Amino acid sequence: MSKRINFDMSSGDKDEPPSIAGLNAFSPSLLADIFNQLPEAVVVADMSRRVVYANPATERLFGYCRSEMIGQRTSLFYAHSEDFNEQGEQRYNPNVNGGMDNYRMSYRCADGSVFLAHTCGGLLRDLEGKPSGYIALVRPSRPMEKSIDTLQRLHAISANPALDRGARIDAILALGASHFDLPLAIQSRIDGEQYLVEHCVSPDGAVVPGARFDLPGTYCVTTLRAGRPVGFHHTAQSELKKHPCYLNFGLESYIGSPIHVGGRVYGTLNFSSPEPCSPFTPDDLIFMQLLADTVGHEIHEREMNDQLRALARTDELTGLANRRAIMETLEWQIARARRSGLPLCVLSMDLDHFKQVNDTWGHAGGDSALRAFARVLVRSCREVDRCGRLGGEEFIMVLPDTDLDGGRAVAERLYDTMAATPLQVSDQDRITMTFSAGLALLRPEETVAPLLHRVDAALYQAKNSGRNRLCVAGD
Ligand code: GH3
Ligand code: MG
Ligand code: MG
Repeated sequence: MSKRINFDMSSGDKDEPPSIAGLNAFSPSLLADIFNQLPEAVVVADMSRRVVYANPATERLFGYCRSEMIGQRTSLFYAHSEDFNEQGEQRYNPNVNGGMDNYRMSYRCADGSVFLAHTCGGLLRDLEGKPSGYIALVRPSRPMEKSIDTLQRLHAISANPALDRGARIDAILALGASHFDLPLAIQSRIDGEQYLVEHCVSPDGAVVPGARFDLPGTYCVTTLRAGRPVGFHHTAQSELKKHPCYLNFGLESYIGSPIHVGGRVYGTLNFSSPEPCSPFTPDDLIFMQLLADTVGHEIHEREMNDQLRALARTDELTGLANRRAIMETLEWQIARARRSGLPLCVLSMDLDHFKQVNDTWGHAGGDSALRAFARVLVRSCREVDRCGRLGGEEFIMVLPDTDLDGGRAVAERLYDTMAATPLQVSDQDRITMTFSAGLALLRPEETVAPLLHRVDAALYQAKNSGRNRLCVAGD
């Protein structure tokens, strides 16, 4: 739960609240007279948090008549049951010593509508100082206070290190849904004419992440066309009443904005309801833009992180897995082979006389040959095989579910392809190159290091026995 802000309403010295001891001299009915006239809702509850008194302003504000409130638990008034529980621990609790407190809270009226209110409340004590009940004075917040409250919550979400990016977007959706009092919240990605739901808050589970809709069938097509936040509060009474989204889903109110990520339109953020709502103000549209920008920032950060992670695992020259990534793959595949009992082979390759390529065509020629060799490897791979560059002109292939015969077949195919595929070393020149290779089959209980040691020894043997050949590791 986000922290609520206590705002100090007292004037003067904080240590000395204004004394009202003199009030004891007056009739007890004085308070009732005041409460009946007060514009704020006043609710008094007993120690079990059941309503024993509610003034006329409470009836007007919440839309219940007094008899519907008396005897009910005060949870009746809260928009969120967790807030009721939290207040029961922190404030409306005989064991807390604090007096009256000021805070903001979301409440729910008899008609289901939710509003934010400034509340002053706490524990009541009898003349002997014994806890005897609770009192709360409730005044609806002005729109400005509501916006500030939502902004503070938005900041708390963005700054919360415990939330990952997905959880942050979910929390922003929930915040926007509560701010606009529109129950359905969606963050979409637009892919051509497709509207893909990436995150959503949907009270009845009617919309789930991963759902796809035709873009022209959503209100967001209007938002994207406008290129800015758009809102309509009562579709039946607008020119959109023939819109397929209204005809299919009956959504009466909608506010949405394009999400921009890295200068391009990524998707939309939108909130909607089957019920009409009060007209959106220019401030609502500005706030909508702010929410969409915040979500766009989260998505941008996620994309950058994904790119960084991919870069850290990729060999820059060839685009193959780098040493770190291929070693992780090998580690993972060894564990998998051990569980499944299926064979696993590793094929290690080193280009022959590669130094001569550099000497003849320069480093750029060598690089070009390395890239071309990587393409040959990738083309010869099955979907499940992984190729990596260990460094220099040394490459490795991890071959899951493959025995030595299978491994030999892969190597033979590679030798055939290399013989038939001269590698480009300059604009004019292509040369036929050869490589030496070692092949090893994972032994039971073997780990990465001994397996690589055996495959290296096999490769060394291939080099020493004339190159352009495969040697298979023995025991
Ligand atoms: P062998 O048949 O015994 O493997 O001989 P070789 O010439 O292929 O092997 P050697 O280890 O003697 O030389 C490898 C050369 O690869 C030396 C090094 O400069 C070059 N090299 C290493 N990394 C790169 C690279 O990223 N790009 C280029 N162009 N050359 C590289
Ligand atoms: Mg070499
Ligand atoms: Mg080498």
